[in-house]
Amino acid sequence: MLGAVEAGGTKFVCAVSKDGRTVEHREQFPTRSPEETLTTVFEYFEQHQVEAIGIGSFGPVDIKPTSASYGYIEETPKLDWRNFNLLGKMKNHFPGVKFAFTTDVNAAAYGEFKEGAGKEVSDLVYWTVGTGIGAGIILNGRLMQGYGHPEVGHILVKRHPDDDFIGVCPYHKDCLEGLASGPAIESRYGTSAKAIPESSSAWDIETYYLAQACMNVTLTVAPEKIILGGGVMHQSQMIPLIREKFEQLLAGYVKTPPLEHYITSIDLHDDAGVIGGFQLAKQL
Ligand code: ADP
Ligand code: ZN
Repeated sequence: MLGAVEAGGTKFVCAVSKDGRTVEHREQFPTRSPEETLTTVFEYFEQHQVEAIGIGSFGPVDIKPTSASYGYIEETPKLDWRNFNLLGKMKNHFPGVKFAFTTDVNAAAYGEFKEGAGKEVSDLVYWTVGTGIGAGIILNGRLMQGYGHPEVGHILVKRHPDDDFIGVCPYHKDCLEGLASGPAIESRYGTSAKAIPESSSAWDIETYYLAQACMNVTLTVAPEKIILGGGVMHQSQMIPLIREKFEQLLAGYVKTPPLEHYITSIDLHDDAGVIGGFQLAKQL
């Protein structure tokens, strides 16, 4: 049996699977203090015994296996979780279990890669556009990481000519996340992003930024596919707009696969993170 933990800033999901694809059982609960939250995780895997667990955690996290702080959550605004040794606590409690550890967005990217919208390619970029913006990058079947994990949600983008919103990123104000995350949309318009009509110019501005995000990863990574997920992408009218603007911005400079295959939405929805966790655990 394989296990997965999706460790999010607002909720935790624990799940188990026999084949790494089908969720046999899943439980979710709000993220509380590290001790309280881990007690619930421990109870879960005492009831559902597994050989290996894949953890995808909110971060930033240290995912470099050779680092002294491998498996730690680092500079998070959630103060009681700062410098918390999440992986170490799990390993101590379950000494017989093998663990894979990565970021929440990497786990979802890996799930889409193995079992979802990226099944037929070996290189992809998976974007999540939600409370924050992040991306998992897979090259030659492996999650890309260097000194740290990519943080492409914070790249700088060219402003839409009609947008004078200051931006919500606490570090950079008007980086991509600062201008195009769910909270950015909500703060720009003073309303819930869900309530903004499909035909609003808000989606024109939003897709202008997301098209730049797609262009920048096309130019730096040249993936075979770009997959977009996260709460804001529930506005499915955005995918054609992103393709259109992407084509204009790129201006034919590099070749990509046909855009209807190249820029797509996700397949696995809420299960991407846990399926990615199972798949990472399966590799151990
Ligand atoms: P998180 O990023 O916290 O894991 P989500 O990916 O669900 O969670 O993203 C939450 C964000 O997505 C919120 O800012 C919310 O406003 C936005 N969102 C959720 N549903 C929609 C929708 N149907 N249309 C536009 N924005 C949405
Ligand atoms: Zn930023």
